[in-house]
Amino acid sequence: MTDAALIDGKARAAELRARVGAAVADLEERHGTVPGLAVVQLGDDPASSVYVNSKNRLAAECGIRSLGFHGSGDTGEAELLAEIDRLNGDDDVDGILVQLPLPDHIDAGRVLERIDPVKDVDGFHPVNVGLLVTGGEAPVPCTPLGCLLMLREQLGDMSGKTAVIVGRSNIVGKPMAALLTREHCTVTVAHSRTRDLPAVCRGADILVAAVGRPEMIRGDWIGPGATVIDVGINRIAAPERGPDRTRLVGDVAFDEARTVAGAITPVPGGVGPMTIACLLRNTLEAACRRRGRSMPEL
Ligand code: NDP
Repeated sequence: MTDAALIDGKARAAELRARVGAAVADLEERHGTVPGLAVVQLGDDPASSVYVNSKNRLAAECGIRSLGFHGSGDTGEAELLAEIDRLNGDDDVDGILVQLPLPDHIDAGRVLERIDPVKDVDGFHPVNVGLLVTGGEAPVPCTPLGCLLMLREQLGDMSGKTAVIVGRSNIVGKPMAALLTREHCTVTVAHSRTRDLPAVCRGADILVAAVGRPEMIRGDWIGPGATVIDVGINRIAAPERGPDRTRLVGDVAFDEARTVAGAITPVPGGVGPMTIACLLRNTLEAACRRRGRSMPEL
């Protein structure tokens, strides 16, 4: 038995960010314009703050201007919608991202629908979801896009491969299914009602896990040589590291899986860094589109 190849999302994300940074510099030099990204956050949820801070920091490293809005957890829906309207109308803003989850008193669907589809760098607007499914040009949700770029680099042509996606959320599972269908894979979307999930997973050449259950997918659920993309981010207790210590694990039992799979993403250091790099890529793309420039091949 051999160990699976490690798909190093951290290194690939750094490469992608460097290419985005070079393209941003080129845009500024040739056209005197810099892309702007507005990250909208309400409240001070610690996990959201960590994500927002790293998005803003990495955007700055790529030369992208951050024009965020940070409201209190009590901000009302009308006030938030007015802020989205303002950002939609601000010519310096190319991309708008609303950090989820939003407080319970706000209808997230209504807020996401208010974003101008051209500035929707998360690709969650119903217009963009429709374009993704029908094969049109639209921003692609960042996490599935990151998974796709890693798969393309690892496998090249995916035509005819059997892909199983475990999870059918709007932000990961469903767009991932649309993307892999576009790559000519034969796609199965599994979920909590799927019968005999281990057998379904075992049939996959490409297995994407987006469940949110620590290490649910065991080594013997994986077909020999399969390519495994682990989207899950789960924090579990790690008493071996000391009292009250925790660690991150994916949805796949990594140590078991890597003795069977052909290639696998680690957690952390896999899909997570690629997600942010794809957000910056999407911001550049939105800036090019809004200014009538062609998006460079990245
Ligand atoms: P959701 O909770 O929205 O969806 C989870 C999906 O998993 C649902 O479709 C659910 O099925 C399915 N599911 C739950 N339990 C089972 C089970 N026992 N067997 C089979 N399917 C099951 O999660 P998200 O898609 O938002 O996120 C999934 C994971 O990915 C999380 O760990 C999240 O933290 C992580 N994530 C990571 C990102 C990154 O950048 N790396 C970005 C986004 C998410 P059903 O529909 O039937 O309920």
